[in-house]
Amino acid sequence: MHLFVLLPLLLLIVLQWMLPELMLTFSAAFPLLIYAMLGLTGLLAGLMRQWNWLYTLSLLASHYWVVQSALQQPLTNADTAAIAIVLPLAFTAVMLLLQLQNKPQLPTPRGISLLLLTVLVPIAILLLPLAGVLANAGLPAAFLQPVSTTLLFSWGQLWWMAVVAACWLGLLNFYAAGSQRWGQFGAWLAIMVFYLAIQQPHMSGWMTLAACFALLFSLASQMLQLAYIDELTQLPQRRALLSHLSRLGRRSALVMLDVDHFKKFNDTWGHDVGDQVLKLLGSVLGSERGVKAYRYGGEEFTLVFSHNNKDNLAEKLEQVRAAVADYPLVIRQQTRPKDSSEGKQQRGKDAGSKTVHITISLGCAIRQSGESTTALLKRADEALYSAKKAGRNQVAFAR
Ligand code: GH3
Ligand code: MG
Ligand code: MG
Repeated sequence: MHLFVLLPLLLLIVLQWMLPELMLTFSAAFPLLIYAMLGLTGLLAGLMRQWNWLYTLSLLASHYWVVQSALQQPLTNADTAAIAIVLPLAFTAVMLLLQLQNKPQLPTPRGISLLLLTVLVPIAILLLPLAGVLANAGLPAAFLQPVSTTLLFSWGQLWWMAVVAACWLGLLNFYAAGSQRWGQFGAWLAIMVFYLAIQQPHMSGWMTLAACFALLFSLASQMLQLAYIDELTQLPQRRALLSHLSRLGRRSALVMLDVDHFKKFNDTWGHDVGDQVLKLLGSVLGSERGVKAYRYGGEEFTLVFSHNNKDNLAEKLEQVRAAVADYPLVIRQQTRPKDSSEGKQQRGKDAGSKTVHITISLGCAIRQSGESTTALLKRADEALYSAKKAGRNQVAFAR
């Protein structure tokens, strides 16, 4: 799912490869278009108070600017070639640094210095030849022939190794991560492509644009995630349920599900343990096949089926009920002495673990022809109430 943020990048690479003339014509509007796009993305990120995007955007803008202003000369120029090696390395290093920073807040001294650093790194590299650092460094040959047999560790090899290693690191690191990290990975990948194809100047424009789109897509996906996904259980929540209900098919069934005596459970084992139980219940319900699970609110969940076969429903719901009731919840008991000195001695000591169980009650309503979703929800709720009234830990069907 998160991988879709890489689509613009792949599309632009394919277009560049298949229709280079067309791409060249359109690139006439660069770099004004690029800066406008970067500015717009930055504005959106700012409005959504997602400050950490601004670091990546400023890094992109400054790299694009440096490439535009410094790398228009052929790579046979020693300084140009050296800059072309150092810049992607610096970009990778700063991206990794940004990854390590845990959402730095912009209006703090630490945040502002980090922002300055991201902007100044490529500009500082641009100034290196002026300071005489790169002159006659003998880098171009090594850069143009990266796999050198004479030099054990050439600059070119180092660059390639950094690219490949960061790629792998990135993939491993981002594999299970959210859209935000995929967006940043996409931006990094796009910039690496423009450094690889540095002899085609307009490529840097297209790739910066691709990086912008990767960031925009991941920003949008992050916003959707915030609006529709419940933080604790990672299930879609009520807003997502309502949008699903608005396009509910004629043949469908709705189940309201509530944990039994959960208040007592919280009082006995603590709210944190209660949260863990809800998380677990969410993952059990979310992994059920053929049904969409939502967290309705609190300890109530909703299941939506896209069929109305009562026998199948009864069998499935009975399975879910039994799976939850039989699930062993291992709770590590921490004795909680009231006296504080006794508490200090006891702290950290595990007083053994205990296995407990929770049960759920389920109320199912099969959609009747022409029935509104509000009426359907109400009937499922009434069925849940009757399951509770009949003794809990059971499934009840609405009339
Ligand atoms: P019943 O069998 O009738 O459903 O009894 P109950 O105690 O589960 O019912 P009730 O609706 O009165 O209480 C729900 C409790 O669920 C209240 C609250 O302590 C707990 N709860 C609701 N949301 C959360 C949550 O996010 N985390 C935790 N830990 N507890 C929650
Ligand atoms: Mg309840
Ligand atoms: Mg309850």
